[in-house]
Amino acid sequence: MLLAGTMKKGRGAVELVKHWINGAEKTSKSGRQGEVFNPALGTVSKQVDFADIETIDSAIANSKSAFSPWSQTSLTKRVQILFAFRHLLNSKKEELAAIITSEHGKVLSDALGEVTRGLEVVEFACGIPHLLKGGYSEGVSQGVDVYSIRQPLGVCAIISPFNFPAMVPMWMFPLAIACGNTFILKPSEKDPSCPLRLAELLKEAGLPDGVFNVVNGDKESVDALLSNPNVSAISFVGSTPIAKYIYENAAKFEKRVQALGGAKNHCVVMPDADLDQAVAGLMGAAYGSAGERCMAQSVAVAVGNIGDELVSKLTKEVNNLRVGPGLDKGVDMGPLVTAQHLEKVTSYIDLGVKEGAKLIVDGRKIKKPQGYEKGFYLGGCLFDHVKENMRIYKEEIFGPVLSVVRAKNFNEAVDLINKHEFGNGVSIFTRDGDSARTFSSHIKVGMVGINIPIPVPMAFHSFGGWKRSLFGDQHVHGMEGVRFYTKLKTITSRWPSGIKATSNFTMPTMN
Ligand code: NAD
Repeated sequence: MLLAGTMKKGRGAVELVKHWINGAEKTSKSGRQGEVFNPALGTVSKQVDFADIETIDSAIANSKSAFSPWSQTSLTKRVQILFAFRHLLNSKKEELAAIITSEHGKVLSDALGEVTRGLEVVEFACGIPHLLKGGYSEGVSQGVDVYSIRQPLGVCAIISPFNFPAMVPMWMFPLAIACGNTFILKPSEKDPSCPLRLAELLKEAGLPDGVFNVVNGDKESVDALLSNPNVSAISFVGSTPIAKYIYENAAKFEKRVQALGGAKNHCVVMPDADLDQAVAGLMGAAYGSAGERCMAQSVAVAVGNIGDELVSKLTKEVNNLRVGPGLDKGVDMGPLVTAQHLEKVTSYIDLGVKEGAKLIVDGRKIKKPQGYEKGFYLGGCLFDHVKENMRIYKEEIFGPVLSVVRAKNFNEAVDLINKHEFGNGVSIFTRDGDSARTFSSHIKVGMVGINIPIPVPMAFHSFGGWKRSLFGDQHVHGMEGVRFYTKLKTITSRWPSGIKATSNFTMPTMN
């Protein structure tokens, strides 16, 4: 089970979530901790130790010394370890999901889905011998051959968000490790337990100590990772202002960087759409995980005269949402992650009303489940007649709040989306192939769904948004992931066999 020490807090004793360095738990001397909540109950369940600079430096030094032997470990051996990890993950899925639900709040089936999506990246990484095959050109000149290989970068790190404590780190580390890098994970301080359990499983799978380290903490830890010259690459997933900060600073310290930010995902419902299919899709995409997903659909764009019928169907469904503790069966939506986040989302609902949008379903009025009165619950909220200039349209709310915007026609819907600062995911519901094709070709968004509400690409394709939803060049996993975690080397070789040696002072050509 979870590795955690115990510390006294008030009259009770709570576990202390530590760090994982060189294959074992470590505590820092920082004296700083954060509170981890059980959002269903609204109580503090654990404390998490915040690393000081010495702890971060020791994790980096450890990762650095593990790099040389690991990068020289055969591909076959690396794959055997990944297969063993995949097997362990699969057999511990339920346990991992329960840990996620207890700290994040999402319903258990959703947490299981998260682990499965991470597992798919591990499966993709098991194919690394094939993915790392380079190119070879024989005889480009007399006796001259050229070949390209991809080599690992060194110590790579991820700073990850609270909303996918297992899946988002698994977007990165299976491939990073498979490519021969060593890896440091800095999880969100809000739900740090699952990442530590993943570290235990990696060790059990046979991964050598030091190849995978976990450091917990806040900005101080992040800044120490950013400025240390022994870290070669940084991946970040989180909100846009921090993504921009990470992108700029990682570049300043000459690191490779990909920084994925926030989102405002639109779902266009055309007049010819199968409306029941669109409503069912929207419900899961807007309210699943209480809207705390970067691919959540927070804006429905009703095109033409479909608006009233769409809103009427949505209203019925939103009113029927079952909200409660994520571990309970039959619950659609769990609590939000913290009281602070609940307050932020609620303030956006207050703002929407002030801005003049029509609040059709008010989730603030929800009756909390018996025995869970202190939990961070919010019911599903539905706004209609939301306008482009409203802050509830422009900004990411990251809660169970769906805004309906009306657009006169297809072109107006496309223009609206293309003007938005974010470009993570988007969907269109239509029966018309022409509209669907024009939409996918003209829309300025990284991931597009056609009659698919949450178009998260499979592990062998790559995940990433456009505009201010991603700073950097490479998307994550798939071949973009392999490219991010390796650098290309091209070797031109000649084996002289009877070629006359001559000095040549002109630019070499292969003639
Ligand atoms: P966040 O930006 O608050 O935190 C993300 C990480 O950054 C955490 O590890 C946190 O400790 C660290 N951090 C926070 N403040 C920092 C600072 N000032 N300096 C340095 N590091 C700091 O995000 P969150 O609330 O954990 O997650 C929700 C956000 O993540 C949403 O905006 C969501 O859209 C986004 N997200 C995006 C994607 C994507 O693929 N684009 C995926 C998941 C989540």
